[in-house]
Amino acid sequence: MKKKYYILVLAFLCMLVGQSSYAQTSGGDYGWDIDLPEICVGAGCDDDGGSPDSGDPCDIWSSSYDYNTCHGGNNNDTGDPCDPLSSAYNPNQCGGDTGDPCDPYSYAYDYTVCYGETTNPDPPIQIDPEPCDGKLEAENKSNSIPNNIQSSTADALDAASAIDGFEHGITFGKDANGQITQAPIRDGGVYNVPVTQNWPGAFAAVHNHVVDYPPSAGDVYTAVTLVSNNPNFVTSYINLPNGDSYAMVVTNPELAKEFVTKYPKDQTDNNPPEFPIVIFDHLQDLVPIMGSSTEGKINAIVATLDKYKSGISILKKDSVDGSYVKIAIKQTTINGITNYQLINCP
Ligand SMILES: [Zn+2]
Repeated sequence: MKKKYYILVLAFLCMLVGQSSYAQTSGGDYGWDIDLPEICVGAGCDDDGGSPDSGDPCDIWSSSYDYNTCHGGNNNDTGDPCDPLSSAYNPNQCGGDTGDPCDPYSYAYDYTVCYGETTNPDPPIQIDPEPCDGKLEAENKSNSIPNNIQSSTADALDAASAIDGFEHGITFGKDANGQITQAPIRDGGVYNVPVTQNWPGAFAAVHNHVVDYPPSAGDVYTAVTLVSNNPNFVTSYINLPNGDSYAMVVTNPELAKEFVTKYPKDQTDNNPPEFPIVIFDHLQDLVPIMGSSTEGKINAIVATLDKYKSGISILKKDSVDGSYVKIAIKQTTINGITNYQLINCP
């Protein structure tokens, strides 16, 4: 920029000198009658009647003219007190000094203070719930009903729903000989069904959903109520129309009771019970991560029940051998960001 400007000035001077010389040598033969100014260029050109050299570095007519010298040796200096690159920079004149070590315009700016040690320590890792806790207990309890009984009760529930379109349920108990017994089938509504709790030796119940909706908030609160009334009643099976079956097992009744006390169900009028807003919001946040399929919703419920230490496991029936396998999701939180990964528990 500066060079260009300098060249322009020189070119202008040369042009003037040329014209002046021409006028002088021509002696006015060509009728030049322009009164050209006398120009002196070069050092000491004061002996030919020209103007004396001012010697001023800021005088563009002077041989001493020097843009850099004239502009304080820095032709990029804006002179702006708000320009941190200017020699005039003064944050106190420019809205005040924030005093912030992270503000590059502040005298207090300090990279190390702002960003911490240059050798970063390991990022903080939050201790997440152990996804395999209670696995053995949950699987033993879920798989205590033989496949043929699971199949026959599932068929009975399906047949009943095919007639009225409502949910139905059956409670399982054990007789004095340890044989599995079944209470009479119960009829429910579109989103709930009563559970026979006083059946002798009651330890589990199965009900079906009439749409492919995963184990619901209502199912969670019911499961905790059942175990609160009867410590043996820890397993709830939930069958979906698509043939999938889930088992909800309360593996830690004390945690489960704390969970429902801390996060009581939210129910209005005749609507199905929902989780309170903090749990509901967490489930909603997981939808874009887990997906909004039935599978994704179940995974979101599993991750949420783990995170809030509900003491409840959810298992899915294996389509090949009919056994119930715990759904385990490893949650790893680093710097506040949680990653979710389906894993197989050992
Ligand atoms: Zn249900």
